Amino acid sequence: MEELKTMALVINEKQIGEADKLLTMLTPEHGRLVVSGKGVQSLRSRHMASCQLFCYSNFVFRKSKKYYYISDSDTEECFFNIRFDIEKVALATYMCDVACDLALEDVGDPELLRLMLNSLYALSTKKNLSLDHIKAAFEFRAAVQGGFMPILDSCGVCGKEPIDDNIVFDVMNGMFRCSECTRLVSKEGIDPSGTAEIYHKINRTVLTALRFIATAPITKFLSFSIPAEDMELLARFAESYLLSHLEHSFSSLKYFKDIRINGIDYE
Ligand SMILES: [Zn+2]
Repeated sequence: MEELKTMALVINEKQIGEADKLLTMLTPEHGRLVVSGKGVQSLRSRHMASCQLFCYSNFVFRKSKKYYYISDSDTEECFFNIRFDIEKVALATYMCDVACDLALEDVGDPELLRLMLNSLYALSTKKNLSLDHIKAAFEFRAAVQGGFMPILDSCGVCGKEPIDDNIVFDVMNGMFRCSECTRLVSKEGIDPSGTAEIYHKINRTVLTALRFIATAPITKFLSFSIPAEDMELLARFAESYLLSHLEHSFSSLKYFKDIRINGIDYE
């Protein structure tokens, strides 16, 4: 039987009967793997800890026809503090669902794994960052890493840096328009590109944050500060940008919003 030694993060779990789980794991070199966790729900299983959702461990797998099976495991990081807070669990579950969507089977994407690990670490330990901050930065960075990097250097029409805060982001064309170019488009009354029109009003503060999130080293992509009213613009934009490009939403995202008490209203 083929053996595979790798670090892996559990990004989805389906309980099967009393003792088993079917796990989806994210690995650096082999992308998304579907792993049969036989007996891992049993208290006697030595793989019980490493087969929890959000756990990052060193695994030895053996591959049979359909699935990988766990031969050995050694837990490295469980992001334990997330589990004490239902809103954090909900947000982490949504982030895992996004990773599941972006990861390809047997295609390595170490950057996606690093994005997940850094985001889960922040959720688990960074008390000074709001959930909306982590969510928005994660969503935009995930979109950028997933191949949906927009043009952020300058206005997509005139190529100039915006001189005021009337900036309109054209989500599906992956570019923004400065106030002058927005005026021209609205005068003509048509969208020159002809694609689906999803526009978001942003400002220069949000644009600066987007540039930072897209290009910062992965260990630093959350290290920015933004006033509360601009955070709302950023949060709504980042969610819309990611979901519009993935072309669907997630039930875990709906659940996160449903249980939120003091978060941003995304509607
Ligand atoms: Zn312009």
